[in-house]
Amino acid sequence: MGPGPCNPYPEATAAFARPMLGHLDPEFIELLDEPNERLRTVFGTANALTFPVSGTGSAGMEAAIVNLLGPGDTVVIGVNGVFGMRMCDLAARCGADVVRVDAEWGQPVDTARMLEAHPNPSMYAVVHAETSTGVRTDVEELGANKGDALLLIDCVTSLGGLPMDLDTWGVDAAYSGTQKCLGVAPGLSPLTLSDTARERIKPVPQSWYLDLNMIAAYVGSDGGARAYHHTAPISMIFSLHAGLGAVLDEGIPEVIARHAACGEAIQAGVQKLGLKLFAAEGHRLPQLTSVWVPEDRLPGSATEADVRSLLLSRYGIEIGGGLGPVAGKVWRIGCMGNTARLRNVELLLGALDEILD
Ligand SMILES: *Cc1c(COP(=O)(O)O)cnc(C)c1O
Repeated sequence: MGPGPCNPYPEATAAFARPMLGHLDPEFIELLDEPNERLRTVFGTANALTFPVSGTGSAGMEAAIVNLLGPGDTVVIGVNGVFGMRMCDLAARCGADVVRVDAEWGQPVDTARMLEAHPNPSMYAVVHAETSTGVRTDVEELGANKGDALLLIDCVTSLGGLPMDLDTWGVDAAYSGTQKCLGVAPGLSPLTLSDTARERIKPVPQSWYLDLNMIAAYVGSDGGARAYHHTAPISMIFSLHAGLGAVLDEGIPEVIARHAACGEAIQAGVQKLGLKLFAAEGHRLPQLTSVWVPEDRLPGSATEADVRSLLLSRYGIEIGGGLGPVAGKVWRIGCMGNTARLRNVELLLGALDEILD
C-alpha cells in the first residue's frame, strides 16, 4: 500500500481498534491524564488546564474565544489569511470589539503594529502558522510586550511541526488540531490556558458545550474528582494518546527536524522545477509550502485543478488549492506528521516534473 494522501502515524490509526471503554469506566478515567501530560510536553507549557477539546481545530478556537472575550472587551487580531479572519468572526460574534491588523497574504503579521493598534486591549490574538498562505508569524514580541492583555495563538498547523515553547514566549492560551502535524485523524483540538487566562474565563460564556468553567472539572485539571460534562470521544482520545506517543518516542527535536528537512527539500525542489514560492522568505512554513500556479506550464488545456486531480488519481498525492484572494492562483503543499518523509517529497517532485510542461 502506498503512503496515500492522508497518512496518520500507524500507532494512531491502530488505537481506533482498541476495545472501547465506557466513558465513566475507572480504567478510562485513569487514562485521561496521560494525553494531557503529553500535550503539555509538545506545547512547551506547564499549564494545568491542558486537554483536547471535543471537536476539530475550530472548536479549540471557539473555546478560547468564547470563554475569554465578551461585550466590553477589545481584541487586537493579526490577519494574514483565512484563519485570522475566522478568529475575527468568532470574536465579533462574542460581542468583543475587534481591532484588525491586516498583513498582505503571503506576508507575516507585523506584531509591532499589533502592539500599537490599541492602548489597552483585553487580548492579542494571532495565527502562528497560517495554513492558507504557508506563513509563520513569530509571537515572542507580543508575549514580551502584551502588558495586561492575554496572548492567544492558533497552533493548529504549528504544533508538532515547528519548535513550540508557549511558556517562554508568554502565551496565555493556544489551541491546535489533531490532523495536521500531530499526525492523527481529525476530531480533537488540544487547548491550553495559563493560570492568568483561567482567572479571566467569563462566569457564563456564550456556549454551554465549550464552557471551560465546567470542563475544567470534567478534565480533572485541578487534581480533584472528575465531574461528568459530556461524553468523551473515547477512541479519538486513544488515538491522540498513541499519536503523541509516536512523536515523543521519535523525539520532539527529531520530529521538528524531519519537518524542516522535508520543507527545505520541497522548497528547493519546486524552485528547481521553475516554480515560484508564494510565502515571504524567512517566514516559510516547512509543513506547508505555497507556490504560485505555473500558468504557462499547465499541460494542454488542463486547469490548475486538473493538475491537482491528476496528482491524486495517478500518484496518490493530494495538494491543496489556494483560498480567498489567491484561489486558483496558488497551490498549497502540505507535508505534515507521518507524511513528512523525504520519500513522499521525492514522489511529489517527480510527479510534478512528469505532469508539468
Ligand atoms: C486547519 C486549521 C484550523 C481549523 O481546524 P479544523 O480542524 O478544520 O476545524 C484553524 N487554524 C489553522 C491555522 C488551521 O490550519
